[in-house]
This record gives sequence, structure tokens and C-alpha cells, in this order.
Amino acid sequence: MAQKRESESRKLLGRLRDAMAEDGDGQERLDKITRLIARSMQTEVCSIYLFRDAETLELCATEGLNAESVHQTRLRLGEGLVGLVAKKSKIINTADAPSEHGFRFMPETGEEIYSSFLGIPIQRLGEKLGVLVVQSKAVRLFSADELYALEVVAMVLAEMTELGAFLGEGEALSARHQQPVLLRGTTGQEGTAEGHVWLHEPRVVVTNVIAEDPDTESTRLNEAVDVLRVSVDKLLAGAAGGDGEQLQVLEAYRMFANSKGWMRRMEEDIENGLSAEAAVEKEQTQARRRLGQSNDAYLRERLQDLDDLSNRLLRILTGQGTQTGADLPVDPVLVARNIGPGDLLEYGRSLKGIVLEAGSVGSHAAIIARALAIPLVVHSEGITREALNGDHIMVDGDQGIVHLRPDDTVSAAFRDKMAMQAVAQERYSATRDKPAMTKCGIKIDLHMNAGLMADLPSLEGSGAEGVGLFRTELQFLVRNKMPQRSELSALYSRVLDAAGEKRVVFRTLDIGSDKVLTYMKPNDEPNPALGWRAIRVGLDKPGVMRMQLQALLRAAAGRDLTVMFPFVAQYSEYVAAKAEMDKAMERERRLGHPLPKTLKIGAMLETPSLAFAPQEFFEDVGFLSIGGNDLKQFFFAADRENERVRRRYDTLSTPFLSFLQNIIARCETSGTPLSFCGEDAGRPIEAACFAAIGMRSLSMRPASIGPVKHLLRRIDLGEIRKIIDACQENGEQNVRKPVMDYLKTVNL
Ligand code: PEP
Ligand code: MG
Repeated sequence: MAQKRESESRKLLGRLRDAMAEDGDGQERLDKITRLIARSMQTEVCSIYLFRDAETLELCATEGLNAESVHQTRLRLGEGLVGLVAKKSKIINTADAPSEHGFRFMPETGEEIYSSFLGIPIQRLGEKLGVLVVQSKAVRLFSADELYALEVVAMVLAEMTELGAFLGEGEALSARHQQPVLLRGTTGQEGTAEGHVWLHEPRVVVTNVIAEDPDTESTRLNEAVDVLRVSVDKLLAGAAGGDGEQLQVLEAYRMFANSKGWMRRMEEDIENGLSAEAAVEKEQTQARRRLGQSNDAYLRERLQDLDDLSNRLLRILTGQGTQTGADLPVDPVLVARNIGPGDLLEYGRSLKGIVLEAGSVGSHAAIIARALAIPLVVHSEGITREALNGDHIMVDGDQGIVHLRPDDTVSAAFRDKMAMQAVAQERYSATRDKPAMTKCGIKIDLHMNAGLMADLPSLEGSGAEGVGLFRTELQFLVRNKMPQRSELSALYSRVLDAAGEKRVVFRTLDIGSDKVLTYMKPNDEPNPALGWRAIRVGLDKPGVMRMQLQALLRAAAGRDLTVMFPFVAQYSEYVAAKAEMDKAMERERRLGHPLPKTLKIGAMLETPSLAFAPQEFFEDVGFLSIGGNDLKQFFFAADRENERVRRRYDTLSTPFLSFLQNIIARCETSGTPLSFCGEDAGRPIEAACFAAIGMRSLSMRPASIGPVKHLLRRIDLGEIRKIIDACQENGEQNVRKPVMDYLKTVNL
């Protein structure tokens, strides 16, 4: 069978190559291709449909159907069997097309007389480009070999479409990658940016799809795989300074290389007439199709790894896209499918903006982008396909919108928005050294969240009174191995130096859930957010926690130290964690090391259970900080990482506010200092409502301090409290609207 397959598709590809080599415009090429496919497959009809726009397919060439219907017949995505092939990215092979579900009669093409139908999606790396169809009068199902041959042809067509081989001269200007494109995604970090695209991993263009000599191609493939193997081994050995991302790639490499199937399939593709790079890409495309439709999160993650691996292989084969020596454009905006924290930190603040095709709000890249205050849009579907290096790009991190190659009107409107933001920023900086004192005379303490040394300059610039949350896990996340105590202690010491008189609340390691350390054995948990994370890991494996506590104590020597434990769900966990701190203190004392001048120990309230902890807990704990991001996800049972549900429930709903009021009341009774450090603290309306119900300390991203302070200084908390009380009494679900109505009456 392999022999037959080989002859089918090799012959076909050979003819295709000859046809493409001849002169002629795009239409002539398409016509030639349909003709020779119909002849080779011995079918009456062969047609090529290409996308006109995202929703419309157009018959672009046909052998056998009415020639006048070319460029006239159009189908919506999902319409008829052709539309279905495109919509579902699925092959349809039927001996009786008219009785097939979804069949649509097209009189202009005379289609009804054809019984057999084989439709193959034309796509490149998951991007839908069109459909290739053969039809015949004879009632027959196309064989697996015929199917394979046409799949290979469809892939060649996809490459050619991408390369613009089917465009007429006049069409060149309307070609892809020239037009303005608006892409919608999700906010990863607010802010706006204008600049030029820098592709983290530029797309590889495969120009030689069909190859003459399978032996040469097979040798090329094997040599490239060897190079890949060596480079991945080097990464593993740390010779290339490999970070966690690269280790993951290695894992993927192992998995796919050892699956044998991958190599075998590529060898088979080469036997059938493809070049080595086309074979790599064909398998990449097919795996994307298979895995992209999978509901299994693990498999989908592997897809990303396979992508990395295939891209590396393509780069080795083509010599393209290794960016060494290339210069970043002016005002670079990084565009990538995804990026690891190490790579992102290397770019650092040189980036104006970041747009990711994948990524998630809580991903490491997002955490770092936030720490560096670089506007970030995630889930920007299609950006890596649409963008070319150097393209003009505008990133609206507030709305999660990306304008690629914007026209003049869009550019002008966007620049107006940026100018307005700059004015607002200036206004905020005017009150930088003034307190967040409300009109009714209540002072709210505003602190900032941080996690990198790079954040510390914001302490001065933002007007924050201290660091209310220092996420220590970032130091663990951006490395490829467990940091040492001495490294950590030096870093914490520098943080305290930079903060000077201002207080820094260090949160102990909060890993697990979305924050995975690549150098720790992965835990396959069904619900990681509810799983083995934060203090649970710390208490079960106290080695790391002890090392970190020692590092903190040594850094603070002679200074004030404030530490809080994340994700405490019950009193006993706090007691156990505090006992670790006591032991660490005792050890330091015994060793004769200088101790901190003062030590405050607190807990994060991130699980509803802790709000109902016994009174002793509230009396015992040094302070509490509400981790609103987690608390809210557990209160509403809505995953903070899941785009489908994460915005579904409002922080300003009366039940959530009542819940917070309960916590505030308990802390008042026990005299426990309380603050709120989730993302919501940085949203001005939310912050105003929190203050109105009695919260006196908020910790937020540095960029939010200005807007929050601006609003707080103009409002009367009593008025807002009255609105909240009334909503609660009247059984309203949410206070947002009436509070916003009140704010409209305030002179902002
Ligand atoms: C929170 O949960 O609100 C919080 C501040 O912690 P993190 O976002 O790091 O989980
Ligand atoms: Mg949390």
C-alpha cells in the first residue's frame, strides 16, 4: 500500500511542480492545478475554493463545474458540504453527496449530477485558507491512498496561497499582511502603546514544498533532527543558559522524538514527494488540527510544545528566523504565541507593548508584563499569522484590542486616547505626595504590589506608602533551578534597602495552581487552584519554607520585617507556619546572627473558610490581607483563569460586599489590622466601595495608585455607604450602577 501511495502522490506532486514552474498568472496556475488533479484522480470535477473573507468561500478554479461560476459562486462558512469542510476543518468523503447532511444544491455549478464527494481543508498551521474538492459521477468512496495524496496537495496549495502564488498582479495590494487588521483579545496589563512589531519567533516561510529526491530530503531531515537533539541536550545541560521553558521543550522533544510516529510520518511524507520542511509543517498542521480540537488540557499544552519543537526544526532546515544580530525596531511591540518569563525579562523594559496569541491573565508572562508595567493583550487570536516584523501596531491594553497596520483615522483616535491618558497621569503625579484623604476626612493607606527588584523604583514614583504585597514566587518562577538562600537573602536585603523607611510585606512562596516551578516535579492535579499550593506545599515540604524564612530574617537583620503566609484556610495552618518562623528565629539567635528589629507575621485571607475562623485566630494573627483574586474565585466558584466565567460575577455584588463587611467587622472586634491586596483594590470604583464599607488599607499595582487616590480625594464615603446599605436593604444584586450614578454628580 505504501508503494501505491508513493506513486499516487509523488506522481501528482511531480506534475504539480512542473505546472507551477511554468509562467502564468495566479488564475492560470489554479486552472492548471484543478485540471491535472482531476486527470490524475480520474474524477470529473476538481475545484478549489479559497476564503474571500473570514466567513466567505469563493470558487476560484474548477475543472468540470460550470466555468462561469468561477468567482461567482460563494458559500458562507458552514454552508453546503464545502462550507462544512472549512468550518469543521474536517475531511468529508462520501459516495452519496446529495443525501449527506448539509448538502446544498448549487444549480449554477450543475453539482447535483455528481454523487461522490471528497473535500479536504486547505490550511496552514491551523489557519483556514480554503477547500480542495474532487467529485465524480461514479458512486464510490475515495480510498485512503487517494485521500492521502489530496491531503498532500492541499498542503502544497496552502503554502502557495500563503506565498501569494494565486494572486493576480492587481491583487497584490489587497494581499494579506498589507491591510489594517483589528484583533480582539483580553487585557493582560492595562495601558496603551504604539510601536512596531517584533516577532519573538518569526514565521518560517517554506518555499520549496515539493522535492525531487526523497533520499536527499530524508538525509536533510535526519541531520536537522540531530542538530535539534544536540541543541536541546545543550539546553538541558544548561550550556545555553536554559531556563524552565527550554526544559519543557526538551520534555516535548523527548515525548515526540520517542513516539517514533512523528519521525515515521515525516519520512513517509518525504517518500510521497514533500521536502523535509514541508513534511515537518504538514505534521505540525495535522497535530494542531487533532490536538486543537481536543478537550484534554494536557494534550493542548503539549500542542504548544510540539509547535516549539517543529518551529525549531523548521528554522534549522531553512536557516530562517534565528534573530541573532537582528536589531529590535524602534518602539518594539513583542508579538508571540507565548513567551516564557526568562525570555520576557531579557527584553525587559525595552518593550513598549506585548501581544500574545495564547497566554493567560495569570500566566508567568502576564505577571512579568504587569511587574514591568508593559501593556499586554493576551488571547489575541491570529496575531502571529497576521503580523510581520516591523508592522505598525497599536496596543490598547485597557480594552484588550490590537490595531495592526492601522489606517490614519484609527491612528489619530488612538493617539488622542494616549494623549488624554498622559494628561491624566500628569494630574495624578501632582497629588503623588498628598495623602489619599477622602472629602469626609478619612485617610486610606495606599500601598503597592511588587515582585521584582525592577518594581521598586515605582515606590517613589507612584506615591505608594509601602509595599503591601511582595510576591516572592517571581524569583522562583523566573529561574531554572531553586534559588539559594544566600541569593534570596541578598535580594530581599536590596528590596528593604530600596524601600528605606517604607514597609514591605513579604509574602512567602505562593506556588501551585497557575504558578508552576519547572524544576519541581509536576503534580497532575484535577483542580490545581483547589490543590496543593501555597502554604500547603510550604507545610508539607518545609525545607523550602525554612530556607526562605531564614533568607528573610538574614536580609532584615536589625530592620523591621513583615511576613505573611498565603492561602491560609484554617487557624492550625497559621499556627504551624508561625511555629516555623519561631524555629527559624531561634536558630538565627543560636547562630548569633542579628535578628530583625521588629517582626510582624500575618496571613492572607483568600479562602472563605478563614473568614469564619475562631476568634482566637483573629486575635493571634498579626494582620490580615485579603487576597481578593483568590477569595472572589472561591466565593463565586468561578475560576479566575477561565475566560468564560472570570468576569461573570461582580466584586460589587451585595453578597460579596456583605461578606467583606463581615471580615471587616471581625477584624474591628479583635483589633486586627486589615488590608486588601487583590486586583480589585486598584480599580477606583471598587476601591471607593471598599473604603466605604470600612477598609482602610489597599494594595495595588503602582499604576493604579494615581487613579484610586484621585477618586478617593473627591468623594464622601458616607454617601457611598448609604447607597450600599440601601442596596442591601432593598435586596438589590449589585451596587455598581447606583454608585456610578453618585460618582457622576461628583466633580472629578
Ligand atoms: C490574590 O489572590 O488576590 C492575591 C493577591 O494573590 P495572587 O494574585 O498572587 O494569587
Ligand atoms: Mg492569591
